[in-house]
Amino acid sequence: MGPGILRMELPIRLPGLGHVNMYALLDSEGVAVLDPGLPGPATWRAIQERLGQAGLKTKDVHTVLISHSHPDHFGCALRFQKEVGSKVIAHHRFSFGPVQASQGPEVSVDDLSAQHDRETTENGAPDLGPPPAPVSWGGKTPWGGERPRPPLKRRIQWRFMKLLGKGFLPTITHPVEHGDELRLADREMFVLHTPGHTGDHFCLHDPETGILLAGDHVLPSITPHISGLSSSRDPLASFFYSLDRVAEIGGIGQVLPAHGHPFDDLRGRTEAIKRHHDERLETVKEISRDFGKPATTRQFSERLFAPRNWGSMADSETYAHLEHLRLLGQADRHEGPDGVPRYMAG
Ligand SMILES: [Zn+2]
Ligand SMILES: [Zn+2]
Repeated sequence: MGPGILRMELPIRLPGLGHVNMYALLDSEGVAVLDPGLPGPATWRAIQERLGQAGLKTKDVHTVLISHSHPDHFGCALRFQKEVGSKVIAHHRFSFGPVQASQGPEVSVDDLSAQHDRETTENGAPDLGPPPAPVSWGGKTPWGGERPRPPLKRRIQWRFMKLLGKGFLPTITHPVEHGDELRLADREMFVLHTPGHTGDHFCLHDPETGILLAGDHVLPSITPHISGLSSSRDPLASFFYSLDRVAEIGGIGQVLPAHGHPFDDLRGRTEAIKRHHDERLETVKEISRDFGKPATTRQFSERLFAPRNWGSMADSETYAHLEHLRLLGQADRHEGPDGVPRYMAG
């Protein structure tokens, strides 16, 4: 870790994830923290404890930075704002509306199922269940059909999360944009807008020490969930663009992700993530050739994923890939008589 930067793991319990990394950036005035976990007293206690281990108190936190509008990242920002009067920095597009809340899951369907395997085989941990349905339950998705309904318990859990998210939303006192310079850890760092996982995601580049604070944009072993429900027309294209944006920075020696452990091969990781999506796009084309006629998102999704992963989140990722191919001119979209779009790719 670079001078003046400390990684503090905060416990979270989200599908596929056991912790979020809050980074403390120490300076002569006190400390700035990036991504202060989920809302709620348990996280607040964990933050107090972690800061305490570094000889710090919550009142030393003059600034809270939020990499993107997911509740496990902005969680305790409001509490810092209210109790300490901390500045709150996020991208100027920061918003947590129905679209953002609906993105719920943090990691891709593949990684959720891998995690599920690990948990059930190694720890015998309880089933985390399927991810939440997009936006509000009921109604239509852009890929047609009714929104699938997860089990009641999960619906209540996620609705609670959504309410929690809204009730705990901080005021962004210092909105930033791409290229902005911030004084952190007594040196200059730069804001890199990296839309994809969310439209308001940003990374921080610390050129003096060759560090990239990557949020959820580039994670060491999992790929972030790219939702088909997004403010962007082509979230996958935004994500590719943003992967290149960080891969092109010279001199990065260490990446500090929001989940998992720090790693050094930034370009290797961005290439692997792109390859993963390219392979998926190729598979979509193969499936389409196999169908030999236009098919719905759900039909593609059920060929791409194993039955236990079927559902709204798999459909959402599939839709993002189909729309990406369509906008590249590599797929045609037809509106069926039932209003459900059908795709031919290849
Ligand atoms: Zn996220
Ligand atoms: Zn995250």
